[in-house]
Amino acid sequence: MDSISTRNALKSAWARARAEMDGLPGGRGLNIAHEAVDRHAQGAGGDRIAFRFLSRDGERREMSFRQLAVETSRFASALGDLGVEPGDRVFLLAGRIPELYVAALGALKARCVVCPLFSAFGPEPIRARMDPGSARVLVTTPALYRRKVRALREQLPALEHILLAGTEEEAAEAGAGADGVRSLTTLLAQADDRFRIQDTDPEDPALLHFTSGTTGAPKGALHVHEAVVAHHVTGRIALDLRPDDVFWCTADPGWVTGTSYGIVSPLTNGVTSVVDEREFDAERWYRTLEAEKVTVWYTAPTAVRMLMKSGRELPRRFDLSRLRFIASVGEPLNPEAVVWAQEVLGLPIHDNWWQTETGGIMIANVAGREIRPGSMGHPLPGVDAAVGRRENGGVTLIEAVDVEGELLLRKGWPSMFRSYVHQKERYLGCFAGDWYLTGDLVRRDADGYYWFVGRADDVIKSAGHLIGPFEVESALMEHPAVAEAAVIGKPDPMVGEIVKAFISLHPGHEASEDLRLEILGHARKRLGSVAAPKEIAFLDDLPRTKSGKTLRRLLKARELGTPEGDLSTLEEPT
Ligand code: ATP
Ligand code: MG
Repeated sequence: MDSISTRNALKSAWARARAEMDGLPGGRGLNIAHEAVDRHAQGAGGDRIAFRFLSRDGERREMSFRQLAVETSRFASALGDLGVEPGDRVFLLAGRIPELYVAALGALKARCVVCPLFSAFGPEPIRARMDPGSARVLVTTPALYRRKVRALREQLPALEHILLAGTEEEAAEAGAGADGVRSLTTLLAQADDRFRIQDTDPEDPALLHFTSGTTGAPKGALHVHEAVVAHHVTGRIALDLRPDDVFWCTADPGWVTGTSYGIVSPLTNGVTSVVDEREFDAERWYRTLEAEKVTVWYTAPTAVRMLMKSGRELPRRFDLSRLRFIASVGEPLNPEAVVWAQEVLGLPIHDNWWQTETGGIMIANVAGREIRPGSMGHPLPGVDAAVGRRENGGVTLIEAVDVEGELLLRKGWPSMFRSYVHQKERYLGCFAGDWYLTGDLVRRDADGYYWFVGRADDVIKSAGHLIGPFEVESALMEHPAVAEAAVIGKPDPMVGEIVKAFISLHPGHEASEDLRLEILGHARKRLGSVAAPKEIAFLDDLPRTKSGKTLRRLLKARELGTPEGDLSTLEEPT
């Protein structure tokens, strides 16, 4: 297709998706919270369960769409009572508790910009996001406020209102009543539970998300209300969401997945979401899948690898027969994991690809289409993907198949980020003509499947060859002793870089010289001598971000003795 007809085809795909939206009554625009909550609350589905919250102490609390509409309206009214205005930034710092979800959607009703932070952040990462994000309101818990935020107040001059969830007594003990600190419970009790969402331009800012910090300091990507069009259809197409589903997205709302698909998409699709407050635990996760009768499960490769590490016996003790669709995002999903799931869970895992910047799933293995283990699948309708090379300030498309290049997306999809906060040049630098440059290297096969090669920063150049870390790591993981692998390029005077692998082992295997040689031999057989690692180091665990991504840049910095860079998202070893 020529580029004009491509553009028209994309436009009409998104126009069709847009037509599935309700829109604010009276043609007053498009608001995420209306599509996610009020639209269902007002209709026949009002009594359907929107969220099923599983609390840290084992309690289970259900909230229907109608109840959610009331609670979120109360929150929106409360913001108005405080004098908070549309466009103001509302930050959320809490575990996966009901108040977080109510506040996020309530703030969207009030046309504020919502920025969820991961509750495990320490004070500095919190400051480093709230300050450039110009936070005016913070919703948090008394404990998190005391431990992490109170001492930062002077450094956050824009922060006026701090709303503490939990009981009024706890809030009072943490300082509610002075310095803009209030009990959220008291505030909500006084607020009107009716709220009329004011006219919302689809281009009004709605969500601010910081990237994972895998390749450097996190960037704040701003999204608009129109993004809901993509959240909605991609949930239906890539996650196969249907109205009767019980959906479990394991991501925390502190990351874009936990908002786009942990809050918005299941709601717009009228689906019940399970929200588990606790952290990963293999046995409890299997039990949750069984007990909650989860039908669609969206998780991440790290979690899958940890489940694999916990063995094949464990899942046999649970009835997972309700589960019908599994998807994964965040990192490349090794073919080994897809095969494991098919054998052990009886279902394959559908890998899909997207970024904080894209706001929604762009490339996916969709239901009913053949999965090629190790591939991220095909671009979704409305997404025009290409493989290209940056050249002279522009890009050259690579038409040939099976050739590696940067993944490009034609601009214009609804959930595309509209800026990086305070980094205009950097934002503009992400585009060349019509194309958004993702920074990831891929190849496309003859049948249009996309294969992840590595992040442009992580690709290894050895003896004139380009080596993608993903392929090497996947080959290493085929070895029965290897649980996880990460490879880096280590400078070498002869060949430029050699491949060095960091490996963690499955329980029951001990690191030894024999095992090292055996794994090296396996890799050489699978990959040939160029791409096979020359060095292997065994680690108990690989360093990763709090969102579960392997931090290759940290392994590399440690190997080279260079500065470790921004570690605000590093997961502390447990
Ligand atoms: P930063 O941009 O701060 O370095 P990040 O890129 O990890 O961090 P995210 O936006 O959370 O931040 O992650 C998006 C990236 O994650 C993608 O660009 C890609 O590198 C990787 N990724 C996501 N899904 C997949 C997938 N299915 N296969 C391979 N890589 C994936
Ligand atoms: Mg990124």
